[in-house]
Amino acid sequence: MIAIYPGSFDPITNGHYDIIERSCKIFDKVIVGVAYNSEKSGLFTPQERVEIIKEVFKGNDKIEVDRFNGLLVNYVKERNIKVIIRGLRAVSDFEYEFQMALMNKKLWGDVETVFMMSSENYMYVSSRIVKEIFSLGGCIKDLVPEIVRVHLERKLREIKNKQEGRL
Ligand code: ADP
Repeated sequence: MIAIYPGSFDPITNGHYDIIERSCKIFDKVIVGVAYNSEKSGLFTPQERVEIIKEVFKGNDKIEVDRFNGLLVNYVKERNIKVIIRGLRAVSDFEYEFQMALMNKKLWGDVETVFMMSSENYMYVSSRIVKEIFSLGGCIKDLVPEIVRVHLERKLREIKNKQEGRL
């Protein structure tokens, strides 16, 4: 069975990585779907996020990385996907995730959302907090795959150079 793990992944963290690895043990194929919409700009472009995730899972043929625009259920219908995977950290994610799962079910009855509890080590990890810590010079070694750290370094250097160019 094919499942999709949708999200912003700006950038992918060890929390996401853990959910994807565990999902691979349950499903035949896992599509990591990078959601993008033109109004919400992130640190990395959607294409960069896709490339980074591909690098992280290089050699794992159970994983496909793709991006989609607009409603997740439209992509799900198009690709005939039956399962949406979402990760749950503590209680803070619950209300939003519950609402999304019910709404997706209402929009397309043929899909089930499956929740996976975060592993203890990654309960507190989010893309936002990783970016914040890194930009302030903190160590993110245990929070993201090494490749992500390299890309974050490059990205911040690019931003800094651009800013200096403007001065
Ligand atoms: P979104 O913008 O859709 O919330 P994210 O990239 O932030 O996208 O997250 C994608 C999914 O992964 C969400 O279901 C989120 O709750 C889950 N997730 C994010 N970080 C973790 C983590 N550390 N442990 C478990 N699940 C996580």
